[in-house]
Amino acid sequence: MEPAKMDPADARPARLAADAAGFARAATILVAGGLVALPTETVYGLAARADSADAVATIYRAKGRPSFNPLIVHVPDCAAAERLAAFDARARLLAQRFWPGPLTMVLPLLPGAAIASSVTAGLATIAIRVPAHPVMRAVLTACGLPLAAPSANRSGAVSPTTAEHVVASLGARIDAVVDGGACAAGIESTIVALRDDGSWQILRPGPIGHDALAEVLGTSALAVTDHAIEAPGQLASHYAPGKPVRLDALEAAADEFLIGFGAISGHASLSPRGDPAEAASRLYALLHRAAAAPEPRIAIAPIPDHGIGTAINDRLRRAAAG
Ligand code: AMP
Ligand code: MG
Repeated sequence: MEPAKMDPADARPARLAADAAGFARAATILVAGGLVALPTETVYGLAARADSADAVATIYRAKGRPSFNPLIVHVPDCAAAERLAAFDARARLLAQRFWPGPLTMVLPLLPGAAIASSVTAGLATIAIRVPAHPVMRAVLTACGLPLAAPSANRSGAVSPTTAEHVVASLGARIDAVVDGGACAAGIESTIVALRDDGSWQILRPGPIGHDALAEVLGTSALAVTDHAIEAPGQLASHYAPGKPVRLDALEAAADEFLIGFGAISGHASLSPRGDPAEAASRLYALLHRAAAAPEPRIAIAPIPDHGIGTAINDRLRRAAAG
């Protein structure tokens, strides 16, 4: 029998433009329970409707993600967030100050909220955020559903900051990707948990730093947690480029691809002028590039450990643990 001829328009994943037709197509696929990768201001997310256990199961399958690792739910605005999570005065203040933007809050899940229990991995809390990226916002509005969206990469691998990264990692496992260019922040959202006892805790450092949160929340946070059940995505080995990674490198050994920063130029630089925000926006793209380079090892220059540098170093430690 003749092999069926493949129409390039049927190739998976469909590459959708960031325009009205692309958003409408993405929304149609999502409403039907499909998987669409979408750019956000942090990294590309792999979205599915959060109220459907079947749709959410396809996220876990496509990523090869352990089912005990809960997903972040994305909504278009605070009103939609308050239909799913219990907001107290602190949560409202944070929402006013940082939404839309790269802050995820872990809050009590409202009883009866239309969220598949696999999204929260059965926890009594939900991780929720209102993203700022115009593409993600347009698709959220077009489909009128909360979307569960972890990073659009195979579990444990380097996060995607371009549509090409998404296709290279997930390929035909997903239905579509909307190409919105490179992500601006380049590092995943800050996750903060607000506790019933009035305390708060950063579960994952990110673009919004401790000091910015403390300005709103008043007191100092509990120590950043590695609590296994609460934030299982925060595994020691994550963001792994598939090669040994050496941190705080001042120069490259013969078999190393050196990722530079500031005065250390390397084979490629996170930021020649030593700007941590620029470094965050380029971090994953350079890890992808280093992974594809001929050198069997990766070395990375030291990054100052304050502000967004704290979040970069958190990701680098996990990349090195792989
Ligand atoms: P990602 O898959 O990169 O979007 O990461 C999502 C992160 O959110 C993981 O570290 C999860 O463990 C964390 N997370 C999601 N839901 C919750 C929750 N209810 N409580 C605590 N952490 C959560
Ligand atoms: Mg991830």
